[in-house]
Amino acid sequence: MLYYSTNHQSPKATLQDAVVKGLAPDRGLFMPDHINQLPSEFLQTIDQLSFQEIAFRVANAFFGDDMEADTLRNIVYETLSFETPVVKVEPNIFTLELFHGPTMAFKDVGARFMARLLGYFIKKQNQTDVNVLVATSGDTGSAVANGFLDVDGIHVYVLYPKGLVSEIQEKQFTTLGKNITALEIDGTFDDCQRLVKTAFMDDDLNQKLNLTSANSINVARFLPQAFYYFNAFAQLKKIGKADQVVMSVPSGNFGNLTAGLFAKRMGLPIKRFIAANNRNDIFLNYLQTGNYEPRSSVATIANAMDVGDPSNFARIIDLYDASHEAICNDISGYRYTDEQIKDGVRTCYTKTDYLLDPHGACGYLALKEGLKPDETGLFLETAHPAKFKDTIETIIHQSITVPERLQYFMEKEKQNIALSNQYDDLKSCLLRR
Ligand SMILES: *Cc1c(COP(=O)(O)O)cnc(C)c1O
Repeated sequence: MLYYSTNHQSPKATLQDAVVKGLAPDRGLFMPDHINQLPSEFLQTIDQLSFQEIAFRVANAFFGDDMEADTLRNIVYETLSFETPVVKVEPNIFTLELFHGPTMAFKDVGARFMARLLGYFIKKQNQTDVNVLVATSGDTGSAVANGFLDVDGIHVYVLYPKGLVSEIQEKQFTTLGKNITALEIDGTFDDCQRLVKTAFMDDDLNQKLNLTSANSINVARFLPQAFYYFNAFAQLKKIGKADQVVMSVPSGNFGNLTAGLFAKRMGLPIKRFIAANNRNDIFLNYLQTGNYEPRSSVATIANAMDVGDPSNFARIIDLYDASHEAICNDISGYRYTDEQIKDGVRTCYTKTDYLLDPHGACGYLALKEGLKPDETGLFLETAHPAKFKDTIETIIHQSITVPERLQYFMEKEKQNIALSNQYDDLKSCLLRR
């Protein structure tokens, strides 16, 4: 399978090139040049398969031309050493819990898969010195650092804004050591992102170091997110709830939702999608007006969705040949203020005993607002509420327990390198190491 760029100005790339480079030379996003349908026999018996086996069949449709089945199966099985259960919240509303991985957020799936796939390609090329640069406002850094820990030949640099990530998040990528280096930048998240972009465009640095990125622009992080949409469907089918399914996705950069759109194109019978936003409602605005108007992000309590120019929008446009009408047929949008999110967490907890995190709360609220009586709603719970302990405790006026997996990071020693927000500082730091 070859991968083309959403800007259509670069030649098609192999999977290996698309994964190792991350972004196309014309700065577009890579897209697979065809989408394989899954056999109807697979969808009819999907409820009898394990999550790992479902994921392998889906992975095979994407990557089967480019590697041996046994290698791919190992990568998938190692990636998914945890479950993504479907849990009933209300009579017609279910949630897909995507927080049972090592850092307790859905990004674990893509990050772990990408680490293994990149590790495999690097070994094949006999390379030993690939450097992953990743800017984070919290969750991406922890998933990528934990996903790439101990992968041979790859060093990861996590750039994060000093004092602006939660203590739990910081501990998840500053306590690992080994091939993970945390760079504490005296600046904002935007500074971190600017530094990473400048590094990718610095020819001198790129001649000396092999650099790649690990956010959802990379196909190896983005496509595996389709796996759990199939698994969610399998679980709904098991309980006789697989007709008229509406999936509601808390969205920021739109990688997660776009992976769901791919699942639908591959034949997964999902009726429609909902994009749930916080106050950063650029996508909702596009649905309403047909105009895409990126703007600076505003800070909210669902901070992993504070994105003002979603990078995967280009993939959605490409997937639908820029037809606003076709996009509106498949996706509707809702947006929630911090007050509404807090209210949603509180009401859901009081009424059903189910504790949402601020991101999942947007997905839940969108179903409450947009689900029709004959439909079954499923929202994605993208992170464990304990990752936002302080916020949640103020909302429900109750203390919550932090799972052992998160507690474990809290007890370890933080190590980082402090840098200014000047590019020269970052560059000399990278070249020294
Ligand atoms: C990253 C993240 C999101 C947004 O996902 P996108 O793929 O960027 O749309 C939502 N919730 C949580 C908890 C996240 O970490």
